[in-house]
Amino acid sequence: MSLKKKVSIFWFRRDLRLEDQAGLFHALHSSKSVLPIFIFDRNILDKLDHRQDRRVTFIHQTLVGLHTQLTRNGSGLRTFYGNPETAFSELMNEFEVEAVFANHDYEGYAIQRDWSIQNLLNKHGIGFQTYKDQVIFEKAEILSNSGTPYSIFTPYSNKWKAEFRPEMAQPYENQQYISRFFQWQAKPIHSLEEMDFIPVSDHIPANVVSDELLQNYGARRNFPAQPGTSRLSVHLRFGTISIRTLVRQAMLQSETWLNELIWREFYMSILWHFPQVSKGKSFRKAYDRIPWRNNETEFQAWCEGKTGFAIVDAGMRELNTTGFMHNRVRMIVASFLVKHLLIDWRWGEAYFAEKLIDFDFSANNGGWQWASGSGCDAAPYFRVFNPLLQTEKFDKNHTYIKKWVPEYNSLNYLQNPLVNHEFARKRVLEVYKQALSENA
Ligand code: FAD
Repeated sequence: MSLKKKVSIFWFRRDLRLEDQAGLFHALHSSKSVLPIFIFDRNILDKLDHRQDRRVTFIHQTLVGLHTQLTRNGSGLRTFYGNPETAFSELMNEFEVEAVFANHDYEGYAIQRDWSIQNLLNKHGIGFQTYKDQVIFEKAEILSNSGTPYSIFTPYSNKWKAEFRPEMAQPYENQQYISRFFQWQAKPIHSLEEMDFIPVSDHIPANVVSDELLQNYGARRNFPAQPGTSRLSVHLRFGTISIRTLVRQAMLQSETWLNELIWREFYMSILWHFPQVSKGKSFRKAYDRIPWRNNETEFQAWCEGKTGFAIVDAGMRELNTTGFMHNRVRMIVASFLVKHLLIDWRWGEAYFAEKLIDFDFSANNGGWQWASGSGCDAAPYFRVFNPLLQTEKFDKNHTYIKKWVPEYNSLNYLQNPLVNHEFARKRVLEVYKQALSENA
């Protein structure tokens, strides 16, 4: 007879909460004793360029909170630092593992990782059960009437709304099973220092949005100086809020905001159906013929917020300082890099991926391909944002600019912008036109 303790395992990934959580609900509902785990995956962490990483700090702080909640119930979070195969081998040595539960994860590495863990567990006769949690509709659940994936947002969102049923946004009632967490004398979770990371002190907005903000969202969302958007992206990225809660609130308060939540699922569905976008390919093939200038000095100036276009510089400085940038400004700085400087959108995508606290592959790739014109449902290539007109429209009093570029309006601010707008506009139109009209 085995002396090992019998447990099921719940594996946290981008679903870092105890409430209204699909996979955790199923684990607790169907097992008597559930050990919650988190793996600090070195396949991901070792690739990060900087040891001061906002995302790692955010994840760590969130896990400390989860651990505290769990220890109050006689349990605790078990953490690993290494690769997932090794963690599961250790767990199988120590416990009689009945089943492993998790939520679906749709990015390239995550899909491969889950395949290999499923194979490992199945070899030992252990089931790996995963559930939809971070979206309302996933994979191929929203298709056109002829069964093909949508590549245009409006018909996708119409179908999304037609298929939606209120029960899809009902919360999972995990709380009733709280006593089913594995009872043990939990040890502290791994510290950041043990993993050679340095904490970053950030102000993270709360994981709630007020009805008042949503009621005014349509009118305020484009003005970066105003607190007009929810700032929930980091919480949606790491699952510290449930999408079901937000959709219920959006349905009551703001269709415009609901559409933003649907954009998120739209880009996830693009990644699912067109995985070539995660291999550095343009969604529209012809755009891979554009002869980028890729001037490294200009790229560096853009990264540092020193282009001489104040709205662009403010955005990049906000990003570098906080890990966040307002959506309107993301569109402006992305368009500027690609169209004014003719720098490959993949360079900008990679820089955002390194810096954004809410970095999400599908939304980031979607945003960059939208800006360059190469994406599904993208801005037409001949639309070139004029940073000065954008400023006039969305930051008329320069409040946002002055916050991030304090030397603006003084002689200390760059007197010669990197490029002349009219010259850059003509240049990009010619280059794009020629590249896109050539036969492939
Ligand atoms: P709100 O306006 O309150 O919107 C609510 C939620 O809807 C957001 O938190 C987000 O989850 C989702 N959402 C909103 N707009 C979009 C959109 N256009 N595409 C997909 N989801 C959306 N968003 C990310 O979450 N991660 C990224 O890595 C990312 N990279 C981007 C890169 C570029 C070049 C562009 C133009 C946009 C990018 N976005 C990204 C989308 C958008 O800018 C952010 O989601 C938004 O600014 C987050 O602020 P918020 O939470 O206040 O959003």
